[in-house]
Formats: sequence, C-alpha cells, structure tokens
Amino acid sequence: MTKSYNYQATHFVTSAPDIRHLPIDSGIEVAFAGRSNAGKSSALNALTNQKNLARTSKTPGRTQLINLFEVEPGIRLVDLPGYGYAEVPEELKRKWQRALGEYLQKRDSLKGLVVLMDIRHPMKDLDQQMVQWAVDANIPGLVLLTKADKLASSVRNARLSQVREAVLAFMGDVEIETFSSLKKQGVDKLQQKLDAWFSVIPPANNARSAKNFL
Ligand code: GDP
Repeated sequence: MTKSYNYQATHFVTSAPDIRHLPIDSGIEVAFAGRSNAGKSSALNALTNQKNLARTSKTPGRTQLINLFEVEPGIRLVDLPGYGYAEVPEELKRKWQRALGEYLQKRDSLKGLVVLMDIRHPMKDLDQQMVQWAVDANIPGLVLLTKADKLASSVRNARLSQVREAVLAFMGDVEIETFSSLKKQGVDKLQQKLDAWFSVIPPANNARSAKNFL
C-alpha cells in the first residue's frame, strides 16, 4: 500500500563531497538531478513547502556537494550537484559525470531519479545521459519540465508531448510532467510519485539485476 509521506518534515542531514562519502547505503533514497539553473532547489523547496531547504541561485561553477535530506528515518531525498556549467574545465566535468554514473549504478538504496529540465530547453545531452543511466540501472525516472509558468498553455502542452515522445525511445520507466515552483503546479504529482517509490518494500536481497553491473 502507498503511504503519504509528510514532505514538510524534511530536514537536512549531511553533505558529501562525492559518492564515496555518502552515508550507509540502506533505506530508500530518491535523487534529484538537473542542469544548473534548471530549478532544482526551487522544486525541492516547493515539494517540502520550505523557503530555504535547498539554496537557490548558487554561484555557478562553485564546487558543489551532494546534499542529503531526510523525510523520516531511512527515507531520503538526495540533491545532486547541478551539471552543465560552461565554466567548469572538461577534466572536472568528466570526473563528475563518471561519479554520477557510478552512483546511479551502484547505490542500492536509490529507488528513483527525478530529472529537472527547464521546459524551454529540455533534453540537452547531459539530460539524456541522466535518463539513459536511470534506464540502464533499472531505476524509474520522473522528468519534471520546470518553469512551466513561463510558457502559454498551448506551447507548454506541445512541449510536454514532444518530450514524452522523445523519452519513449529510451524504453524505460520514465514519466514526464510539467512543473512550476512559482505556481506550485505539479507538486502533487511529484509527491505521489515519491510516495510510490518510497513505499516499495525492498526485497531481502537489495541488489538490482546483476546484468546491469557487467
Ligand atoms: P537550480 O540551480 O537548479 O537549483 O535552480 P534554482 O531553483 O536556483 O532556480 C534557478 C532560477 O530559476 C532562479 O532565478 C529561480 O527563481 C527561477 N525559477 C525556479 N523555478 C521557477 C519556476 O517555477 N518559475 C519561474 N518563473 N522561475 C523559476
């Protein structure tokens, strides 16, 4: 049965410089990823109905941490560093991409990935890579097309259909919704999805299908 979690009770637990320093891999976590400026912090704040849970408008290019929040014991939201900063050196970008891929493949407690994309510029290379990694790792995904309030509803719906069509090609469990932190649109859908992911009781052997690790 699906439980409704109280996202308002979410609180910051810790930051980690990289995936090797994350807390013990137990319980259930859902990660939030997106290009810098996609609206990830605003979405986390809207989800939890808190003004300052995740800081908005951070300095681009700054070394970023993985931030972990707890909804309740064993139930976590993971705020991954924004990707796609133009200013970041290639070598560092590659390093971070490797770490992200590794996290998605190896983290057993990871049960869902939310990818945030500005509705005006969706499905850039790294966004597609995130979706691909989630599908490859057998993790269900939710793509949120953010800042939906910036488009007229006809354009918004057309864009939603286009992205849904594009994501079909990945052949995974990935849903697409529009979202606006400003108008609080899509927050219910996000909560329902998280409730569903957090309600799955992990099997005794928590490892995902071995074929994905070859
Ligand atoms: P992050 O870098 O992905 O964490 O993005 P932020 O949450 O900091 O948002 C980046 C910018 O987009 C900020 O100026 C926000 O005010 C703006 N923004 C975020 N969400 C929305 C939204 O739903 N509507 C509008 N109009 N602007 C938004």
